[in-house]
Amino acid sequence: MSFSLENIIRENIKGLKPYSSARDEYISDGSEMVFLDANENPFENGVNRYPDPQQRSLKAVLADQKGISPENILLGNGSDEVLDLLFRAFCEPKEDNIISLPPTYGMYKVLSGTNAIENREVLLSDDFQPNVLAILNTIDANTKLLFICSPNNPTGNSISEKSITKLLTSFNGLVVIDEAYIDFSPIESWVSRLSDFPNLVVAQTLSKAYGMAGIRLGICMASKEIISVLNKIKPPYNVNGLTQLKALERVIDTTMVASEVRRILRERQKLIIYLEEISFVQNIYESDANFVLVKVDDADKRYKQLLDKRIVVRNRSNQPLCENTLRFTIGTPSENKKLAIILKELTMS
Ligand SMILES: *Cc1c(COP(=O)(O)O)cnc(C)c1O
Repeated sequence: MSFSLENIIRENIKGLKPYSSARDEYISDGSEMVFLDANENPFENGVNRYPDPQQRSLKAVLADQKGISPENILLGNGSDEVLDLLFRAFCEPKEDNIISLPPTYGMYKVLSGTNAIENREVLLSDDFQPNVLAILNTIDANTKLLFICSPNNPTGNSISEKSITKLLTSFNGLVVIDEAYIDFSPIESWVSRLSDFPNLVVAQTLSKAYGMAGIRLGICMASKEIISVLNKIKPPYNVNGLTQLKALERVIDTTMVASEVRRILRERQKLIIYLEEISFVQNIYESDANFVLVKVDDADKRYKQLLDKRIVVRNRSNQPLCENTLRFTIGTPSENKKLAIILKELTMS
């Protein structure tokens, strides 16, 4: 059997017609038009009109940058909304299941809980790579989504191309590659492979490298067929007007984003050199992201000591394979310096 989108769409979604909003029918083409169709307040204040439900300007720029068509893109209120739409379109509550690969991003589990979908967890190996055989053995006729986070949060490593290819070709559900940290990685995005794999979905976000966690913009890229299913169920105005405006300004400024990414990567390298000198640091995991996962002697103790010094890091010790680990996000040069000085002080107390 091979992948067929029809086979995995929920029955109630198949026949659904999307809500047709007033602003979907006519969009200003630049010429003077009178809009008396959407019951808006007519007095201009910058946001009195409904935003473009299809985010055409923003998608045009993103499509161009990523070498795909706007029809391959769905935008959401953060990638959290994008992931939720995937559950709602493809997973039948109390019937279907998804697979996630811990230690990984916590939202896959949360979303399976809120959507009443079984979350089957297949641990990564000791080197944080997928256990492909175990995953294939876990898949059954009701497995609809497989989440692969690459670079992975909280471990920082990228997932091997060979494993992902094997999973894409052996699994008849959707393989969702969460690339929240791809802009920090030397590895190429899977977006360039969309035409090779009809069951590939790539999720990205403006929350990390683009420095816009506050505006909430998630990007979902997949075949036109998959995107049109998601378009049927998304709320019409899920990406607000201010977000569309801010995002557009930022994505156009590619040199600024690239220069900030370079600075963060330089800072990551400096932090790693500091960390190597800290006696209670036992392992610094390879990172392709804007954070480093570090194994220490006693994570709870070190976490509290840092908190006492007003530095908040993430204790990942309760995640499988992550015993006694802390995750440090790369901050500004002065923040990282402060972290390094305090860690050094802690070795002397
Ligand atoms: C931070 C992060 C996101 C971002 O989610 P948004 O809702 O877009 O802010 C997505 N996936 C992973 C793995 C993350 O670490």
